[in-house]
Amino acid sequence: MRGKEPLVTCDNCGRKVPRSKAVVFEKVIRFDTETHTGSDVKFFEKRKVYYCISCAKHSKIFEKKKEMAKRKPF
Ligand SMILES: [Zn+2]
Repeated sequence: MRGKEPLVTCDNCGRKVPRSKAVVFEKVIRFDTETHTGSDVKFFEKRKVYYCISCAKHSKIFEKKKEMAKRKPF
């Protein structure tokens, strides 16, 4: 008997999908913080988010992934 497949939550619609069927997308979140000294401090955080297949298609995640592979942002 196999173990249960871990469920992940779709970042877009909140649906629970099995991990093997979910699309992993690396999201870069930027925080702009203004300090009291007046200088801007920027934080970047890479976060892995999951999308269900339909959301991935709908929000063109697949195309974004291709684009990112071309550009190599980091
Ligand atoms: Zn979804």
